[in-house]
Amino acid sequence: MDPSRVMRVEKAGMAESMQEDLESLARGGFRCRLCHVTVANKPSLDDHLRGKKHQRLESLRSVRQAQELRSVFVSGFSKGTPASELSDYFQAYGEVINVVMDKDKGVYAIVELQDKEVLEKVLAQPHHSLGGQKLRVKPREKKDFKYTQPRKQGSAKREQLSPKKLAQELCQADDVDAQMSLLVQQFEFSEGERRLRDLLVTLFQEVFLEFFPGSAILPFGSSVNGFDVSGCDLDLFLDLEKTKKFQASTKSPAEPLAEDVASPEPDSHSEDSILSDIDLASATTPEVLELVATVLQKCVPGVHHVQVVPNARRPVVKFCHKESGLRGDISIDNKLALRNTRFLQLCTETDERVRPLVYAVRHWAKQQALAGNPFGGGPLLNNYALTLLVLFFLQTRNPPVLPTVARLKELTENEEQTVVDGWDCSFPKDLTRLEPSSNTENLCTLLAEFFHVFGDYNFASCMISLREGQPLPLPGVLESTVGSKLKLGPFNLQDPFELSHNVAANVNEKTALRFQRCCQAAAKYCRSLQYQRKSSKGKIWGLVRLFQPGTAEAETPAATGLVISLPLTLASLPAQTRKQLSQAGNMHQCWFQKVCSSIAFVLKDVLRCDCLEAQEGSEREGEAVTECKQREQQTEADAEQPSSAGHKRSLDEEEADLSSPAPKRLRTDTLSPEGESMTWNCAMWRRVWLGRRRVRRQLRGPQPNSQCAAGSLELEAKVSEAISQQEGEARPTDPLLQFTVHARTGADSSGEQGMRISLCFEPAPEQAAAFQEFFHFLQGFLPRAVEQHVVSAT
Ligand code: ATP
Ligand code: MG
Repeated sequence: MDPSRVMRVEKAGMAESMQEDLESLARGGFRCRLCHVTVANKPSLDDHLRGKKHQRLESLRSVRQAQELRSVFVSGFSKGTPASELSDYFQAYGEVINVVMDKDKGVYAIVELQDKEVLEKVLAQPHHSLGGQKLRVKPREKKDFKYTQPRKQGSAKREQLSPKKLAQELCQADDVDAQMSLLVQQFEFSEGERRLRDLLVTLFQEVFLEFFPGSAILPFGSSVNGFDVSGCDLDLFLDLEKTKKFQASTKSPAEPLAEDVASPEPDSHSEDSILSDIDLASATTPEVLELVATVLQKCVPGVHHVQVVPNARRPVVKFCHKESGLRGDISIDNKLALRNTRFLQLCTETDERVRPLVYAVRHWAKQQALAGNPFGGGPLLNNYALTLLVLFFLQTRNPPVLPTVARLKELTENEEQTVVDGWDCSFPKDLTRLEPSSNTENLCTLLAEFFHVFGDYNFASCMISLREGQPLPLPGVLESTVGSKLKLGPFNLQDPFELSHNVAANVNEKTALRFQRCCQAAAKYCRSLQYQRKSSKGKIWGLVRLFQPGTAEAETPAATGLVISLPLTLASLPAQTRKQLSQAGNMHQCWFQKVCSSIAFVLKDVLRCDCLEAQEGSEREGEAVTECKQREQQTEADAEQPSSAGHKRSLDEEEADLSSPAPKRLRTDTLSPEGESMTWNCAMWRRVWLGRRRVRRQLRGPQPNSQCAAGSLELEAKVSEAISQQEGEARPTDPLLQFTVHARTGADSSGEQGMRISLCFEPAPEQAAAFQEFFHFLQGFLPRAVEQHVVSAT
């Protein structure tokens, strides 16, 4: 709490709690924290304070607090013990007002006593037992009273629509902007769902407070960040900082208790206290999570399927709420997520276009199977990453719709500066200091532009930075200290606060390529009248067609699924080589030829595939090409030496070589600004993709020889040779598989820092099914092998 902001209410006799409730805002006006109400001036504030709502909540709060002060938390009794038995037991000390049992699990109860005197008598008794069981009896933890705000009437008790009904509703809207607003209304939580989540959070808070004194359960993620979708998971952070301090202070009595954890906890020393099982300060995260899981399993009513996931990037305990089917996670080490959640919230408050745009992009990406990863992991973008991408897009409009994170930092007052886990997470706590955007683009245009921008984006060659509001060149990021820990990949999107974290590091080549293709297809559709105007003939239009699954893919070569994208950028090369290439002046052509020669090497020399460069397209002569070829020849000569040394070449291979392209013959079909390309006609004679692991083991023997290291291309070439020999000496009359491979760079590869090369495979028509198995193997093998060859050859 910021004390300078808290209005010092002068009225004599006004309760201290009321002073705490009121906050004066920088731009004038006041906020009542109890009721979540903001008013413009002092007279309105007085009206509010006298009003029914404030009065009712105040009295509710005092009733709850009084109840808390005279209640005890009791556990340790046998399962199934009726409330009446507990009541009878405690009657011995004075009147018992109420006993609230944990109905689901029956392992704890809250016993409300007549007054504080009775409570003191109960607590003064060091040992309690009932039915032969030792009871744990503790005072209740003091909790902040929280009022949960009801949702707007409009979205209350809304039923979720089927996809068909949703499409019908959307088609009835007047324009795309109206469709997008409707989408938000259809997806956001109903009042009932929000209430359920609030109740669950309160329940968790109650239980955890009893077992972990001073702890706090804080929701984050889509339940609270403004991008709530009915049924989304419930992300919770269990803050144990105060519990740790508390535990430390009870262990060393000489140390005074910290003021904020000074509530008495008489039972925490006893051998059956849950805290006596563990030292929170030294315990590992999985150990603490096990304990959290035990509390969830045993003590939280209605919770099941509790599971610790210790190896995730952020370890969590997963759970499911039986009645509602709600899934959730509890983490204990994720303060940055609380902060980025608040950042997303602030963005939604800054401009009303943010929510509809994010909802539309999220739904589109889900329908195209580009985002979601409902169970975590996987190669798709997660919703957080996708949301950041939309926010970045809004930062880069002209004029910007959203400020950059760096600008937000400038607007942050000294006392609001926030550092979490060493990362600067400063931004203003509310909108008072933010200038409204002068951008007037409507939602329809913004969505179309989103697809247009990212359809042409080279995600692999730069790092998208929300802090700067622009893409950062990768070598620059890499060479800075922050970048050294960055996990780069085909999709690079920097977390706005944890700058060494690529939030899209899990995205694989295939997904990155599909994302771009789907954006291109969506951008194309958005240029049509079908997107822009409501159909007068009752046909689908606007968002509805955009949301149809797979529409983009049907129009692209990726539809065949036979595309492998190579994770190669200039950034993956050693700095010295990058420098040489950039000095050559024709960096991309050289780079492309280098990679193509590595592709040919892997197919031909490592996998024993005949591959002949297709003689099509025009050949461009000139200095650049000559220079590239010279470099290429040198590279190939160097690279071929180790792999052919000691490699017994069969007659078959000699024959194959006659028809295969020599490295120096490599050239590009086209060298246009749209990107380079190269095609090979290939034939496979042996099933070298089968049983490689076994053969590899045999070849390496019990004492692996360092000359032929695991994973080396030399070893892989030997594996292919051994498999070929096992299949028979003589070559079959016909190849097993015939196919073409087209290598090409993306249309967006003209940037300085790198490019994407995709390989599109086209099997002979009658071999499409048989080709799948080989292709599946190539998907795993080829990118790694080519990268290895490129790096070793430069
Ligand atoms: P939904 O659950 O609807 O998919 P979400 O925003 O809650 O959306 P989760 O994957 O559940 O997404 O993640 C919860 C929160 O954790 C996110 O909102 C974000 O605050 C944080 N988070 C998720 N993934 C990352 C990440 N890769 N890097 C940093 N923070 C993340
Ligand atoms: Mg979530």
